Order: sequence, then structure tokens, then C-alpha cells
Amino acid sequence: MKLSYRLVELRRKYPFSISGHTFTSEQSVYVTINHLGHTGYGEAAPGYYFEETMEDFLRYLDELDLEQFSNPEKLDEILDYCALKANGALTSARAAVDIALHDLAGKLLGKPCHTMYGADPAAMPQTTFTIGIDKPEMIRKKVLEAEGFKLLKVKLGGPYDKEMVEAIRSVSDLPLTVDANQGWLDREEALDMIHWLNERNTLFIEQPMPRNQWDNNAWLTEKSPLPTVADEAVLTLDDVQRAKGVYDGVNIKMVKCGGIREGFRIVERARSLGLKVMIGCMGESSVGIMGAATIAPLCDWVDLDSAWLLANNPYQDPDLKDGRIQLSENPGIGLTEIT
Ligand code: MG
Repeated sequence: MKLSYRLVELRRKYPFSISGHTFTSEQSVYVTINHLGHTGYGEAAPGYYFEETMEDFLRYLDELDLEQFSNPEKLDEILDYCALKANGALTSARAAVDIALHDLAGKLLGKPCHTMYGADPAAMPQTTFTIGIDKPEMIRKKVLEAEGFKLLKVKLGGPYDKEMVEAIRSVSDLPLTVDANQGWLDREEALDMIHWLNERNTLFIEQPMPRNQWDNNAWLTEKSPLPTVADEAVLTLDDVQRAKGVYDGVNIKMVKCGGIREGFRIVERARSLGLKVMIGCMGESSVGIMGAATIAPLCDWVDLDSAWLLANNPYQDPDLKDGRIQLSENPGIGLTEIT
């Protein structure tokens, strides 16, 4: 097996703001793994709140020796080697390799990746479409452009939260999910805000308070009329246990946990703890999204929309019907070839 990679600067259609950060473009790493005439595709980029740099990411890829493996169908063995080489860290780099290895193994076995984890495409939840922090006029414009999506997500955690939600509600009645990205700093005010949002058709609240404030998040979850979901507070499988009693659910991301296999393990761990499961993304194009989508039918909530927020997605957008990403029955992750 031979691994190669390339970097692509992915540009957002609009500057995308969340509590504390604005993104206009990000470099994404595209990994390809070739074996016997088949190619597996993967993609990821280091997350802004991880202790992982692009330099570490690329060094890891350079040092990974996949040529020692001749049977990609022995996926577990290869993924164990990849995790060991990363010392349990470098989750985004591992995610790119993991997705490519799944895609390749699926193609060699002639089966779609979702079948490897018993994920039923018919059980795919609708995905949210995310509206970043913006002025009311831009928010209305973005909502009206979210054609085909049946759920909206809004980024809050700033001084204009109510104005933004009111701007959305002036043009749309679609159910809303909220991501405060750790931006709510006072728990009483956060609780008041959640009550206000609950009267405006909101489904749940993602990462309401700073990730290191376990007690405040637990207090809020206990009193909140809406479920809370840990995102920045829960990165890997090892973190899931700690979410119990603090949040109602966890948000899985390929780049946080290390890929499809680790994501599936988080689903199982979360279920055993009675936690809800969400699956989300960072700024990936269709490759990263289709990798995550393979296990999305096993989750309660899906937020896999970043491919549609890009101005230069190098791949075709995932197929969307009734607001749900359609999983392909083609072998692999079901990515539509490069345009
Ligand atoms: Mg989030």
C-alpha cells in the first residue's frame, strides 16, 4: 500500500464566525492510499482547539510506513499500527488515514463502509445547516440560501445572540440547534437563554460553557429544559466517560477522535453510558463528510454540512434528500470522483 497526500486551501463561501474565532479559509490535507489499482480517499485538518499542528500532521504522514502491509482488508491491524505510531495523539492526521483506509478496504471488499458498522442508510437523521455569527441581514440571506436542509444550527455565544435567533425566526420556522462554542460565561444567564431558546423551537444546546468548567456545565444540564451536548469538552474515546452526568450527549468528530473506527467506538461507549450521540464536522469537504456519514445513521443528531459551506469543494457535494445525506451503495465511503 502506498500513501500520498496533497494540501488544498479550502475557502469558505462566506467568512464563518463562531464564539472567539473567524474562519475564511483553512488548509485541508487529502490523503490517498493506493493498492492493486484501487484508491482510498481521506481528508482532515488539525482543529483549532487541539494541540496538533500542521507540521506534526505532515511529519506523521511522512513517517507512516504502510508499505509493510499488503492486505488492506486487515483494517484493524493497520489502524492499530497507525494509532501506535501517533502515540494515541494526532487524531486529525489519523482521521485522514483512517478514512482513506476504510475507503480502500471497502473498495477491495466490494462493500460500502456503512455495512462494516451495521449502519442503515434508511436510519440517517437529517443534517443541520450551520449559520455562523453574523449581522441580521447576512443571517437572513444565509438561511434563505440553505435550500434542501430541514434543520438549522446557529452559532451563539456572543453579545447579539437574541438578535441572531430573531433574524432566523423572521424568515424560517425550521427546528434549530444551538452551538455556543463555550461562549456563555455565566451559568444563570445561560439558563435564561436556554429557556428563551426553548420557546423558539430549539432542539438542543452544544457546548454551552467553557470546556474546563465541568461543574457549571453539569449544573446547567441538570436545570436545562433542553438537552446539552459536549463538543470541545469531549475529544476522544477516553473522554466520553467524563461526559456522563455533565452533558446529555457527546458530539463525535472524525478529526477529534481519529476516524471512523474510533467514532464507532464512541457511539458504543456513549450508548452504554446512556448518552445521546451527535456527529459533527469542522471545515471538511466531501471526503471528510462522507467518511463521517458512514456511521451517522447510528447517531441521534447529524451536523455534517461543511462541504456546502465551501467555495471550492474539490469533490461533488454529498447527495442530499429530504435534508438527509444519502449513503451510496457503491464500495467504500461513497465519494463521487474528483471533478
Ligand atoms: Mg460545536
